[in-house]
Amino acid sequence: MATWSVCSRGSLRSGMLALRAVWFIFVMAGFGTGGEATAVDTKKAFDLQGHRGARGLAPENTLVAFARALSLGVSTLELDLAVTKDGVVVVSHDPLLNPDVTRGPDGQWIEKHGPSFFSLAFEEVRKLDVGRLRPGTGYAAQFPDQLPVDGTRIPTLVEVCALAKKAGNETVRFNIETKLDPGKPNETPGPEPFVDAVLEVVRAAGAASRTTIQSFDWRTLRYAQKIAPDIATVYLTEQQGHDQIQVGRPGPSPWLAGFDVDDYGGSVPRLVQAAGGKTWSPLFRDLTRESVAEAHRLGLTVIPWTVNRAEEMESMLDWGVDGFITDRPDLGRATLAKRNLPLPASTPVSP
Ligand code: MG
Repeated sequence: MATWSVCSRGSLRSGMLALRAVWFIFVMAGFGTGGEATAVDTKKAFDLQGHRGARGLAPENTLVAFARALSLGVSTLELDLAVTKDGVVVVSHDPLLNPDVTRGPDGQWIEKHGPSFFSLAFEEVRKLDVGRLRPGTGYAAQFPDQLPVDGTRIPTLVEVCALAKKAGNETVRFNIETKLDPGKPNETPGPEPFVDAVLEVVRAAGAASRTTIQSFDWRTLRYAQKIAPDIATVYLTEQQGHDQIQVGRPGPSPWLAGFDVDDYGGSVPRLVQAAGGKTWSPLFRDLTRESVAEAHRLGLTVIPWTVNRAEEMESMLDWGVDGFITDRPDLGRATLAKRNLPLPASTPVSP
């Protein structure tokens, strides 16, 4: 037999074969892998996503926060988008100016939500200061470790891509969220022009292969899948608090591009799959170990949001999620390190 003659040529080779045999017996006996699911999961690197950059540490959706995330080391920068009146794609979570984080050119806090980014020229947006949480608000109380940097401006998507380049980071991904509300069509561009504007920036930056488009408004995802099949989509869902999915209610939810979860037995993973999704990104509190397993059986990647406490991170890892979105990428790294999981490269950069 050819195999035996190869073996007989050297003791090193036969020694390696013997080691492989021992490893095989070990694996078959169930040692070391913790079962099939773990062995499969560890093949793909865990996707550590910095939410709005690193909201728990630096002013959200700013170059300061993205620089912090890149410096710590994340595999993905998560960010939200708005489009100005003159068509500039800027980074903001809220279609309307948010009084919890926004000061006007006079340095005074704005008193209420608005106006919309879509009604403002980029030049006006650029004069706003979003470098600090408004003291005394409930929102500020949620992020006691966020370090303010007064004078920080709202960045463009172009600038975020350029920052990753400046960091020398050629692998970090951009998980970019189209922020629009089917019930408020006047606050933003419609789904198609919104996606067109975003894709133009992503392609010009040469970042298409590292970009995912995510949204609660699945109309944008369906449209992106049609016109840009090379760019991955991510299906955001939220059931607690904001009933985007509407299980058991007659008719489809306006957020879901005509899909009705009740046509899929109330299963959100099946709904995502039916819409053409490959990645499901649920509120982490909506998840169960069983729903993670169901999604995996359907071939979906599962990336919950927004997982900020160490014990929550541990649970998600125990359930076998493929990544998570966190305001605290520092804690995310510490949690992965405790389990000897590989960490994304740290690429220090200043904003
Ligand atoms: Mg987001």
